[in-house]
Amino acid sequence: ATPGGSKIREEKIRVTVRMRPLNRKEQAMYDLVAWDCLDEQTIVFRNPNQERPAIPYTFDRVFAPACSTQKVYDEGAKDVALSALSGINATIFAYGQTSSGKTFTMRGITENAIRDIYDCIKNTPDRDFVLRISALEIYNETVIDLLNRESGPLRLLDDPEKGTIVEKLNEEVAKDGQHLRHLIGICEAHRQVGETTLNDKSSRSHQIIRLTVESFLRESPDRVKSYIASLNFVDLAGSERVSQTKTCGTRLKEGSHINRSLLTLASVIRKLSCGIHGHIPYRDSKLTRILQSSLGGNARTAIICTVSPSLSHVEQTRNTLSFATSAK
Ligand code: ADP
Ligand code: MG
Repeated sequence: ATPGGSKIREEKIRVTVRMRPLNRKEQAMYDLVAWDCLDEQTIVFRNPNQERPAIPYTFDRVFAPACSTQKVYDEGAKDVALSALSGINATIFAYGQTSSGKTFTMRGITENAIRDIYDCIKNTPDRDFVLRISALEIYNETVIDLLNRESGPLRLLDDPEKGTIVEKLNEEVAKDGQHLRHLIGICEAHRQVGETTLNDKSSRSHQIIRLTVESFLRESPDRVKSYIASLNFVDLAGSERVSQTKTCGTRLKEGSHINRSLLTLASVIRKLSCGIHGHIPYRDSKLTRILQSSLGGNARTAIICTVSPSLSHVEQTRNTLSFATSAK
């Protein structure tokens, strides 16, 4: 962490932690806030019964419960998102246990990023931009198209030039910001299909919204001076799946598959953050295969780790903070 609240350094992987407020249900159950955000870099467990203070966790940035999503975006994701406009692949993740605020945070981040991207496009009159969107869900190591739910499970293929591609994944050109938001709304509605019959599905599935931003210098007749980059918004499955072991049937299958994607992602991120240049196990899960070109290398990554403040979630919060520590 950088002391004194100074500007966050231009790292490849930015790890921030967002703590949500205690919700109404927790308040009604007299649940307690178990953590203090001491300053913008430090979280510490409240332990009134111990003489020695608990060891604080420090990060590039900690967003306390009162922080707005706008602030989380500005300091945790904005420059990573906007790097896609200049041809740099980027990925923004929300990582945390179920109910810690991943979907809430990613929706806000996506909304803010879209607004800024269209502002930048407006202020860059010398370039023509084309934005395309695709979206998918990985559930049970099965890849589903969120723009076209009818299409069934999709296969991953290895393209010698493009790397891993998702076969037959729909891609729509966004005409403007409003159209883009409309398309994202379709993806969200599709994501909710099956939620009621498949209990707890959202906590087990990963969602990727991918914007492809391409631009051409206007006066260049051959369109050679072009940029192209992917910007991925990733709402991960609940991180409790990493530690949880299911005992039988489909539950075991789902549990182990999600373990695999999340465990592989965690391992890839740890290796990248240590600066390991050797073998990075991208190929060990669908999630990391799909994201490979936007994770590591020259790509920029922001991981927003979401945590619950409550005493009843302390174990999961510790797990998330440990992950965040190993990723920074
Ligand atoms: P997850 O996707 O991690 O399972 P959600 O994003 O669905 O969690 O959040 C769980 C609940 O908490 C939702 O009702 C959401 O609106 C609320 N919530 C999450 N984060 C915040 C926050 N920072 N401020 C206010 N409410 C929040
Ligand atoms: Mg969610």
